[in-house]
Amino acid sequence: MSKKEPFKSGFISIIGRPNVGKSTLLNQIVGQKVAIMSDTPQTTRNKIQGVVTTESAQMVFIDTPGIHKPKHRLNDFMLKSAYSTFNQVDIVLFMVNAEEARGGGDNFIMERIANIKTPKFLIINKIDKIHPEALLKIITDYTNDYEFDEVVPVSAKNGNNVQALLNTIQGYLPEGPQYYPEDQVTDHPEYFVVSEFIREKVLQLTRDEIPHSVAVVVDSMQKNEDNKVHVYATIVVDRPSQKGIIIGKGGKMLKEIGTRARRDIEVMLGDKIFLELWVKVQRDWRDRPTHLQDYGYRQ
Ligand code: GDP
Ligand code: MG
Repeated sequence: MSKKEPFKSGFISIIGRPNVGKSTLLNQIVGQKVAIMSDTPQTTRNKIQGVVTTESAQMVFIDTPGIHKPKHRLNDFMLKSAYSTFNQVDIVLFMVNAEEARGGGDNFIMERIANIKTPKFLIINKIDKIHPEALLKIITDYTNDYEFDEVVPVSAKNGNNVQALLNTIQGYLPEGPQYYPEDQVTDHPEYFVVSEFIREKVLQLTRDEIPHSVAVVVDSMQKNEDNKVHVYATIVVDRPSQKGIIIGKGGKMLKEIGTRARRDIEVMLGDKIFLELWVKVQRDWRDRPTHLQDYGYRQ
């Protein structure tokens, strides 16, 4: 598939009360056009659930658990981390059930997302179960008190209007990289996002001194007894002078790259991260096809 420029990409969080149809929607999207479905064991709280790649955009759907009324402090803490995620993702889809009256659980979530800057869509699901005339009343009920950037009625089960939802989402995405190869089938889809975050920091902090072709390989990523996800990654450059720039005086630059990348990764994965970075020189690695594969790159 040839890619259109500028390419757009972003992260989308689907939230809503239990049983409104969040998983059904994901399955519907995934069934239509998925690049990957993560079946990674639950090492992270914000799990990547599916990736849709079109010729002009990539949409990464993430699950954001912990958005229920807090019963004790731990839940309260999880809620806070869930909300900080909402400010980091590109779109929040708030899903409700057209069959059920708006309830306390819906209000609770809407109050929490009322002031986030991220675009919010109201998704009214299960429209196959209601009379079309009832829809307007439902929309009015929700939008009288709360503002949404878009209101999209769907039937997640039979797929009605789901393609239109994807098109609308695409319109809100910022310009960005293709995080995942479109036919990616991997046990560890998070590796690619993590490597993109690190790469972004390298480019930001070194300005024009390091070429965009710099690669980042995530060597391993797993949760240890200290409850942190330990990430080991290698930054691959093709000249020793570039290695020096990335490491910086007394290792200062590499430390800064690590600190900034770690913050982003923590928000994205919803877990504490221990990040260790190496820098490796490998001449002409871009010209060797086998290595390109290793580095998660595609021509
Ligand atoms: P979640 O808890 O939000 O992930 O909800 P699920 O996706 O598990 O769906 C809960 C129930 O609602 C399941 O029995 C689904 O089959 C049903 N459901 C989901 N979407 C629709 C829909 O569009 N129409 C109908 N009729 N049922 C739906
Ligand atoms: Mg579910």
